Amino acid sequence: MNEHPEAGRLTFEEISPEHLVPEQVERFASDIQRLLQHRHEFVAVPCPACESERGEKFFEKFGMTYLVCSDCETVYISPRPTPALLEMYYATSENYAYWNKYIFPASENARREKIFRPRVDRILEICGRHNVPRGVLLEVGAGFGTFCEELQRRNVFRRVIAVEPTPDLAQTCRNRGLEVIEKPIAQVHLEGGAVDVVASFEVIEHLFSPREFLFGCASVLAPGGLLVITCPNVKGFEVAVLGAISDTVDVEHLNYLHPRSLSNLLTKCGFRVLEAMTPGELDAELVRRKALAGEFKIDAHPFLKELLIDRWEELGDAFQRFLAENGLSSHMWLVARRV
Ligand SMILES: [Zn+2]
Repeated sequence: MNEHPEAGRLTFEEISPEHLVPEQVERFASDIQRLLQHRHEFVAVPCPACESERGEKFFEKFGMTYLVCSDCETVYISPRPTPALLEMYYATSENYAYWNKYIFPASENARREKIFRPRVDRILEICGRHNVPRGVLLEVGAGFGTFCEELQRRNVFRRVIAVEPTPDLAQTCRNRGLEVIEKPIAQVHLEGGAVDVVASFEVIEHLFSPREFLFGCASVLAPGGLLVITCPNVKGFEVAVLGAISDTVDVEHLNYLHPRSLSNLLTKCGFRVLEAMTPGELDAELVRRKALAGEFKIDAHPFLKELLIDRWEELGDAFQRFLAENGLSSHMWLVARRV
């Protein structure tokens, strides 16, 4: 199986153009401040993966407290914003408005080529491997609709449905000619009920209740249907090495799962896990960037310095490939079947 693209590796600059970053950072900071004004309304939660109450303080960042579960090692924000606060946060986010207007259009071609096409390829590969009927595919959290549009173009599935609860994004999806359901997945009831594949990319880490979300996914799937989920892996290289200074650790990411904790949760929500993989491509580069920016003190880690700075040209790609192929990247894919 070929997990790494031979034709041009993904780089950070392509998907996040340097000249647009400062303004985005400012807008994000203002979003965070607005959210933190509601801190007194935040609620404490048990581990979002295993429901254990035994969470130990891991670190603080942006005025939020990150706990690590003593039972399953999931990291999570608690206390966290309520579902109503989260809805307000996304609906009024300046960061997303800026993204929608500037960053996404400026980087869409690179994203389409380097992220969405490989994503479609991988989904089709997975469906082939597990003999899924190519009937209905539903994407939860379709965002700008690029994945659904790309999939639609391949003309493989009879019907492609974009579930997107954020009004602006849902409109963007409709403008692309997609079938859109503008609701959270837990409120979606489909006529006929039988979806063959549910796909969800970088969504579960944002949600107040991953459990409710997975039950929602199970409820629209046909028995035997596939669920494909991607999200950060807290035990992967980038997050494990950088910890609180990782950009993956932000206020929007409430849940930091790893292959085992997400597998356990899937099992409890009516799924059988078929595959867990970490095909991430950016770990080594992201840690290197933090080191070059002086945010990560790599001099205290001579081995990492040799790998990521001194011998980067020679070893960078091979090291990233090693991480990806051995379950050690901070970006994971899980494939599960509804039982
Ligand atoms: Zn746990």
